[in-house]
Amino acid sequence: MEIFKKSYQDINYCIRCGAVLTLKKDPENKMRPHCNNCGWTYYKNPIPASACVIINNKSEIVIIKRKFPPNPNEWALPSGYIEINQDPETTAIEEMKEETGLDGTVEESLGYYTDFSPIYEKVISFGFLMKVTGGKLQAGDDAAEARYVKLDNLPDIAFPSHRFFIEKVKEKISHEGHRQR
Ligand SMILES: [Zn+2]
Repeated sequence: MEIFKKSYQDINYCIRCGAVLTLKKDPENKMRPHCNNCGWTYYKNPIPASACVIINNKSEIVIIKRKFPPNPNEWALPSGYIEINQDPETTAIEEMKEETGLDGTVEESLGYYTDFSPIYEKVISFGFLMKVTGGKLQAGDDAAEARYVKLDNLPDIAFPSHRFFIEKVKEKISHEGHRQR
């Protein structure tokens, strides 16, 4: 259970009542910060996020230059954290619109990738191949730039998860020959 102790070492106060938390075994015998005042137990889980691969018939994908941490000013896929009222697909569709101006739907799941996060310790990213249904490519409020770039000529991409989803799409294309879209 050492891993849990280490993971929770910076969790000191109850988010509900503000009392000091103490590490205590939960019913599954795992150490968790527990509030003796109000009964709240704190669980640290990977934070879920969605990322979009948008590709055109010239084998170009949409990348955005990030405006905000983590990794500001670096290139990445359009992506974002999943809100409490969303599922992975709706987040992908919303982030695509917000960051690139493009309307889209989910064409295919590209699986998931668990990654270290400097902010949240661990993020679990869900990748989606998206189909463009409308809109016009332009950087949204939380992207500094948005553009199509040839798959074989990409700049450095910020996150291992995004590189993983791009590789999956490259494999898919090489199996299909070329895409007709
Ligand atoms: Zn409390």
